[in-house]
Amino acid sequence: MITRDVAPARTTAPRLLAGARPGRPLDLTTHQQVHGPAPLGGGVAERPERLIDVIERSGLTGRGGSGFPTGRKLRSVLAGKRSAVVVANGAEGEPGSAKDHLLLSVAPHLVLDGISLAAQALGAQDAYLVVHRGQPRLVDRVEQAIAEREQAGLDPVAIRLAEIPRRYVSSEQSAIVQFLDRGVGKPTYAPPRPHERGVGGRPTLVNNVETLAHLALIARHGDAWFRSAGSPEAPGTTLVTLSGAVVRPGVYEIEMGTPIGEIFLRAGGMAERPQAILAGGYFGTWIPADEAWYTPLTRADLRAVGGSLGAGILIALPERCCALAETARVVRYLAEESAGQCGPCVFGLPALAEEFAALAFNGGRGRTLARIEQLIGLVEGRGACKHPDGATGLVRSALKTFAEDAYWHNEDRPCDGVRHAPLLPLPEDHKRDWEFR
Ligand code: SF4
Repeated sequence: MITRDVAPARTTAPRLLAGARPGRPLDLTTHQQVHGPAPLGGGVAERPERLIDVIERSGLTGRGGSGFPTGRKLRSVLAGKRSAVVVANGAEGEPGSAKDHLLLSVAPHLVLDGISLAAQALGAQDAYLVVHRGQPRLVDRVEQAIAEREQAGLDPVAIRLAEIPRRYVSSEQSAIVQFLDRGVGKPTYAPPRPHERGVGGRPTLVNNVETLAHLALIARHGDAWFRSAGSPEAPGTTLVTLSGAVVRPGVYEIEMGTPIGEIFLRAGGMAERPQAILAGGYFGTWIPADEAWYTPLTRADLRAVGGSLGAGILIALPERCCALAETARVVRYLAEESAGQCGPCVFGLPALAEEFAALAFNGGRGRTLARIEQLIGLVEGRGACKHPDGATGLVRSALKTFAEDAYWHNEDRPCDGVRHAPLLPLPEDHKRDWEFR
């Protein structure tokens, strides 16, 4: 299970997690002692391009999964020429991620600074911070932080907290926009994208909370400071969530470009011999452990080995576990978590989940692999959002990385690994186990 430990990087002084104490948020006074006051007011409101220029030069990219350049996103919202809306996305859809929860728990003011700075730069009249429902302690902490700021008269635009349904797809940006407009947390067809027509039909900046926290630090210290960590192509630090066969699972702040093996060593090393790393969460990719170990944590380097960074999730799969069984549980979870409004999610994903489960747990009788390939073709590229493609991407990756296992499951029978307790994290209500036949 994921724990919410704070373990800052050793090589670079922690930035986002500077001064962080596990389980206790920095109050406004301590936050300002640690980071200095945010440069709100005057300059940013009068010359919004200046902040956007600095963010562009910094090379900051979205930390929620897409990796889109933050400066470019700000500029496209500003170009909308209508009163903008800022939305900070702190609703972690990925069960394997704990970084946004941790950041909001220990450093809420850094995120709130980022929201306010972005709102000022865009001349926004409305600003929201979105989290998942069912997190009363987190909501208390964030509400307290907002109240502190209101008392200090800090934020030019009031920041409203919104709690969205706890579903995998409800944190997708078009689903958030739809929820804020109509109370329905389901994705919609894009385009138009939120920066063109978002909340109330207005240009809307939807950014992950970690991205906005970085923005708040860059506004204070500048682009050269941000680039002094990481690599020229992938500057700065990032939060990663480690789990699986690792000694100290939790959230770590690391420099971009740190090799994956080194990240695990910082977390105490491997608790068991790993066979593969799942990088990027449940829309991510299985990478053989030997290959992943030396791969630097950047989008480009992960892409070169067929992987993805996603929201910075790394899960180490021990050799004793069956990768196909682990994948089957996740594919079923993804099938159950769709918004159920497009054909590929209503019909295709459940069928794919069933076939993959048959392969993993019962053996394929020589036919299941072909059926899975056929279903992938029927599902891919046909949804309103990327949910079905994310699920088929994970299936493809499992069949490629564990091709030999898939062959024997299909031709003969399941391996002994299927009898081990599930390893990949799933929400409680999705934790059912499979019966052996
Ligand atoms: S593709 Fe699936 S998750 Fe996406 S909008 Fe359609 S039904 Fe919902």
